[in-house]
Amino acid sequence: MARIVVKIGSNVLTRGDGKPNVTNMSAIVDQVAHLRSRGHEIILVSSGAVACGRGAVKPLRQLDSVAARQLFSSVGQIRLINIYNDLFAQYDIVAGQVLTQKENFGSRSSYLNQRACMLTMIENGVVPIVNENDTASLTELMFTDNDELSGMIATMMDADMLVILSNVDGIYTGNPSDPDSRLIERVMPGEDVSGNVVASKSGFGRGGMGTKCGIAGKVSEEGIKVIIARGERRNVLVDVIENPDNVPHTVFEPRREGLSTVKRWIAHSSSFAKGKIVVNENAEKVLRGDSAVSLLPVGVVDVEGDWEEGDIVNIHGIDGTLIGVGRASVSSEIAVASRGQRGEKPVVHYDYLYIE
Ligand code: GLU
Repeated sequence: MARIVVKIGSNVLTRGDGKPNVTNMSAIVDQVAHLRSRGHEIILVSSGAVACGRGAVKPLRQLDSVAARQLFSSVGQIRLINIYNDLFAQYDIVAGQVLTQKENFGSRSSYLNQRACMLTMIENGVVPIVNENDTASLTELMFTDNDELSGMIATMMDADMLVILSNVDGIYTGNPSDPDSRLIERVMPGEDVSGNVVASKSGFGRGGMGTKCGIAGKVSEEGIKVIIARGERRNVLVDVIENPDNVPHTVFEPRREGLSTVKRWIAHSSSFAKGKIVVNENAEKVLRGDSAVSLLPVGVVDVEGDWEEGDIVNIHGIDGTLIGVGRASVSSEIAVASRGQRGEKPVVHYDYLYIE
């Protein structure tokens, strides 16, 4: 039995004319029902609200991109969720809607609150259907796309596997439409295949293969297996789990030791950092080394920002590169006062430190 997060892209869920693709949705619901009957827990991260709203309402005047996203998603989201609801009801499965925003991942308390909500849903046999709350998200604080959101949900929920259903079979060695390109079937932990990805966006959705590749690499490093496959392929979801040899896909093998839940949260938190700590070369070397060490004041050369104990801070090398993220054990005031000194309390304790 596994806990599986399934991300479905806008191109799988909507047709070219902006109407929901009920055939594809129905095939996915059939497969989710099958996997649940085998004891798996499924969480859906479903895009398609904006694409689906576009086919449902014609704005009376030209709208800017924010207003258009808000209008379309408000209309499209309920259409999608109603269809899911009806399709799941045929199997007597209860589905629930989770609309979220990046801010909900920003503090430990809202992160735990959201996690608790979804755990209660799962415990009660409800299938969570997650999307970004596109009517309320501020552009500068949005998820890059739902691939990023699905990665955050997978780590937050301690999933065993993340399956990203897209409109291509996986990651190719070049442009997927080029006959010389080959599907990369397996990516090992630490392997970087992003150089193969041609910069292109997949039709309706916000994300492209570049973000998918980056998210898959990061999530698999955290100990979760990631699969990218083509959502329209018959029985693809069941096959990638039960008969993976029968279906083309790319798998990112998880790093075995993985990360603890708190480190997973921290690993995804760098965009919420309240401040910045610059460390000297020696401290950088020690932090990047193999042994578990805390960040001590003696290695700190500069402190920026105003933060409290428990807030997220980014850790940079002397040349400005981001080397890690941590949850501060002291306030910025104390960090400034203890900077460069020996024998003081760690600025970030090892348990709350994530080095890139
Ligand atoms: N949240 C967006 C929607 O439902 C999708 C974002 C994406 O394309 O990844 O339309």
